[in-house]
Amino acid sequence: MSRYFSEKYGGLVPYVPGEQPRGRSFVKLNTNESPFPPSPYAQRFAREAAGDLRLYSDPECRRLRETAAEYFGLAPDCFVFTNGSDEILYFAFSAYCDSSHPAVFADITYGFYKVFAGVCGVPARIIPLKDDFTLDPEDYFGAGGTVFIANPNAPTGIALTPGDIERIVAANRDSIVVIDEAYVDFGAGSAVGLVNKYPNLLVTQTFSKSRSLAGGRLGMGIACPELISDIETLRYSTNPYNVGSMTQAAGIGALLDREYFEECRNKIISVRGSTEKRLRELGFDCTDSSANFIFAEHPRVSGETFYRELRERGILVRHFDAPRISNRNRITVGSAEEMELFLAAAGEIVKAAERKDDGGPGD
Ligand code: PMP
Repeated sequence: MSRYFSEKYGGLVPYVPGEQPRGRSFVKLNTNESPFPPSPYAQRFAREAAGDLRLYSDPECRRLRETAAEYFGLAPDCFVFTNGSDEILYFAFSAYCDSSHPAVFADITYGFYKVFAGVCGVPARIIPLKDDFTLDPEDYFGAGGTVFIANPNAPTGIALTPGDIERIVAANRDSIVVIDEAYVDFGAGSAVGLVNKYPNLLVTQTFSKSRSLAGGRLGMGIACPELISDIETLRYSTNPYNVGSMTQAAGIGALLDREYFEECRNKIISVRGSTEKRLRELGFDCTDSSANFIFAEHPRVSGETFYRELRERGILVRHFDAPRISNRNRITVGSAEEMELFLAAAGEIVKAAERKDDGGPGD
């Protein structure tokens, strides 16, 4: 840190993104990307937009907004687009949290919430999940601050029902409730249908996972027009051209190609189920995931060892050295072929640990 760095950021602990492998090819199951390329429409539209890169991108994202409005059956002014959904989350922390409106979120959830609270200098009220990693909706009734819930949650993959989400939103009429639906397309029910009913609900979604556009950096906020205009005030006060032209074009293509979207997410849901089944046969405990990842632990292999042994075998998963979850790993659901490689490695690691426990030499 230089001596010029503002004191207000002195204690900031930044987010640590998942490892981006270099120098060796890995089976990359550590950042919840899609194993499938973007829709051919998304690719073609982005290529076509490249010819116009001389010009600034449309700050209003008009065509993308209209396409999204049609897709979700809402008015165009219910949408705001951002540079990944991390940016809309940052705007939400900036817009709706301060010393009298703490950020309220679970102890085990998306790690960026704590970082955003830090960078915005706002207090955080942390509510522990239950022992089985489920969230008790009643813990959030009258939360007394701005609520952030990832649904499905990360890294557990566990989803709340739309009914439970509605109960939380309805029980916090004087506060904003942000539902982060980064993984919603893999099996949870969306709260988007509630935005016309609740003026305190902001739903965020991303194109990074189910629409294969992580590198395009496209996220969106969906809410009643009044909340969208709050976020727009912040967006126009920081970077009105936050979404590039190629990314806007790719986003339109991804939304228009519903068939490809369905096909990819159905494959991921199916491979998730078969991988979980085989992991359980190997003795792993897996949470009930509605996301594109599996959150697993084994009684005989520590989370850290499993992570390290997989890495040595060329497979990257995500290990969080955090209380309550350090024995688990979050494993992105890749292609069927990638999961075969992962399962073969997992089988070897478990067998070696069992041989060692039984007095053998192990590996
Ligand atoms: N929310 C959750 C729960 C996530 O796991 C992620 C991915 N790291 C994001 C939001 C942000 O993703 P992106 O910025 O790529 O949209």
